[in-house]
Amino acid sequence: MAVLVINCGSSSIKFSLIDASSGQTIESGKQERITENNYEESITKIISELGSHQIHAVGHRVVHGGAHFTKATVIDDEVMQAIESCVPLAPLHNPANITGIRCAQKALPDVPHVAVFDTAFHGRMPRRASTYAIPGDVAKAHNIKRYGFHGTSHEFVAQRAAAFLGRAVEDLRIVTLHLGNGCSGAAIEFGRSVDTTMGLTPLEGLVMGTRSGDVDAGVVLQLAKKLGVEETDNLLNRKSGLLGISGKASDLRDLEQLAADGHDGSRLAINVFAHRVRKYIGALATSMGGIDAVVLTGGIGENSANMRQRILQRLEFLGIRIDEDKNIDARVSESNPVARISSSKVEVLVVATNEALQIAKETNRAIGAAVTDTGRRPIPIAVSARHVHVTPEALAILFGEGHELTPYKPLSQPGQYACEEKVSIIGPRSRIDGVRILGPTRPGCQVEISRTDEFALGVDAPVRRSGKVKGSAPITLEGPKGKINLEEGLICARRHIHMTPEDAEHYGVSDGDEVEVAIRGGVRDLTFGDVLVRVKSSYKLEMHIDTDEANAAELGRTAEGALIYNDVYEEQVSVSAEIAGKR
Ligand code: ADP
Repeated sequence: MAVLVINCGSSSIKFSLIDASSGQTIESGKQERITENNYEESITKIISELGSHQIHAVGHRVVHGGAHFTKATVIDDEVMQAIESCVPLAPLHNPANITGIRCAQKALPDVPHVAVFDTAFHGRMPRRASTYAIPGDVAKAHNIKRYGFHGTSHEFVAQRAAAFLGRAVEDLRIVTLHLGNGCSGAAIEFGRSVDTTMGLTPLEGLVMGTRSGDVDAGVVLQLAKKLGVEETDNLLNRKSGLLGISGKASDLRDLEQLAADGHDGSRLAINVFAHRVRKYIGALATSMGGIDAVVLTGGIGENSANMRQRILQRLEFLGIRIDEDKNIDARVSESNPVARISSSKVEVLVVATNEALQIAKETNRAIGAAVTDTGRRPIPIAVSARHVHVTPEALAILFGEGHELTPYKPLSQPGQYACEEKVSIIGPRSRIDGVRILGPTRPGCQVEISRTDEFALGVDAPVRRSGKVKGSAPITLEGPKGKINLEEGLICARRHIHMTPEDAEHYGVSDGDEVEVAIRGGVRDLTFGDVLVRVKSSYKLEMHIDTDEANAAELGRTAEGALIYNDVYEEQVSVSAEIAGKR
């Protein structure tokens, strides 16, 4: 399958036509001096010049996918809107990427177009690595978190390194260093990015050609006050880094020459650059609790033996020792893409990156995945904390005669609300205080807890659908005015999906069906079996699970699941049978 890979920058368009199965590049090139006015013309020209080759798909590099995308995605109107919504996060990059997609779609309307995001590979970093320590509500309102970039390159070189070492990437902890005009490092633990040096934008982290990398946020505030926001932006993105420190050049080749000629600013620039990378090797290795390999790539990583030596010296305490001769002799190219430069247990490899090839592969994969995709809407997931439903009579005992429930906040299912009122639930082993009542009152009392609560309380709660409390477990409730010993009512809620008859038709299911729901793209993928479908016209589409279930999948507040259909289901059944047999 021939994939046209397009990388649209603000002033240039790079393209490669790649056979995604063999990895061979059929044609490649670059158009410079692109402006808004001649974008369409340039893309049409590239495509018409490739006229003799058949193009099966187009893979577009898109810098920022925000929180929307953790993998390459076939572009439709909705995907386009999501990419547009990320423009404020990457004002220099995403607009050019969007123009590129539009022009290419016009020129090649009959082939699938796929967006491959720089951020996607880092999209599953643990929250501890992706969260800035600013107020959570502000971060959420403005989508401020650490996204990370250069994902295609980090993933590609990690895989190339693992293949060279004859090991599975799932067995390795690799620090990858992409050192080009833009520079970033990543901690790739068993195949996944768990930390990276770039953040909300590609400005954080390492020193770059013209970007500062890390600075105290106080520096930004002071400069913004003195120079204004726009000039500060310009200064940190275009006048800093190697160029800023040396005052002479952003290209390391020039700086190495200047330094050799005795220019102090250039020497300092080189030293600050190397020092920052060294510091981050330690940090990234620590994020993974250990390190098996360091991989260097990008124009600097692949070509500057001098810089590699500065970065990697005196790291024996981390188990890293480079062989100086091998380092000086290392040459990588597409035909010979990996060179080992270490003489230690921790491998140090120079690896030629090929982002276009990785984009072609991911484009191919995304198209394959789209064919098996059911095309049905994802199901929003809500996590229910332990809670209590009460009868009017029970309310009177717990809170006093004539007491009315006080709504605290509405719940997603119409007419239901969480209340200000809280009670204690008391089991033979312990009690749990502060358990919220959900309103309105119901004809029967029902206490819904998780398996973890069950152990804490010392009770045995059956898994039941809501409302089916007959023969369930006993429990004691205590309110400010009184106590009730319920003979039954304690359950562990069966996971279920609320949906309307229209939703049921959309998914091809009926009330009472048991289905499987897959959670994909989060930190820990998980498939829930035995999920009950509940259909009523007053319901709002939502799957309900308890806190234990949510913790098992490490779900955030905005998770979504996908229904699994029979063909896939059969496969899953045989897998679980096999596992059950081994126990
Ligand atoms: P980009 O990040 O734009 O893809 P590259 O990965 O091509 O950039 O890296 C470009 C940078 O690599 C140049 O600015 C230069 O500093 C550095 N570089 C390339 N070749 C050499 C070399 N032989 N010696 C030192 N530095 C080099």
